[in-house]
Amino acid sequence: MTASAKQRPVECPCGGAAPNRRNTDKPPRFSDCCGRYIDGGAAAPNALELMRSRYSAYVLGESHYLRDTWAPQTCPADLDIDISAPDAPRWLGLQIKRFSPLDDTHAEVEFVARYKAGGRAHRLHECSRFTRGEDARWRYVDGDVSDR
Ligand SMILES: [Zn+2]
Repeated sequence: MTASAKQRPVECPCGGAAPNRRNTDKPPRFSDCCGRYIDGGAAAPNALELMRSRYSAYVLGESHYLRDTWAPQTCPADLDIDISAPDAPRWLGLQIKRFSPLDDTHAEVEFVARYKAGGRAHRLHECSRFTRGEDARWRYVDGDVSDR
């Protein structure tokens, strides 16, 4: 397999997660959902869709996309996702609890992401902050992780 022959799922890993979405709803196609941003280069129109595409990028190991959608002030220098590493988390699903647009350039998204790591199931509950840059693209800034 060459670097350009990327493995892509038919169904989007994010499941089309949204605050009022039921788990029984059929997931969207990757090419109609996060694939438009991760592979297509389109700008996510809001922080909710950006957050979903970043979840999908974690699932797919798209470190480059994660860097591109991270505010430069907070983006870690050593960001490199290796999904084939033995200790890499296996992401199981995304649930969006809340999407709060605050103004034209700030928004928050509260989510729960489930994953397996080291043989155990985990739950990441985070309230993430996003800003929109002068290029009109939304980017992740940081987040507060909740224990509940
Ligand atoms: Zn998606």
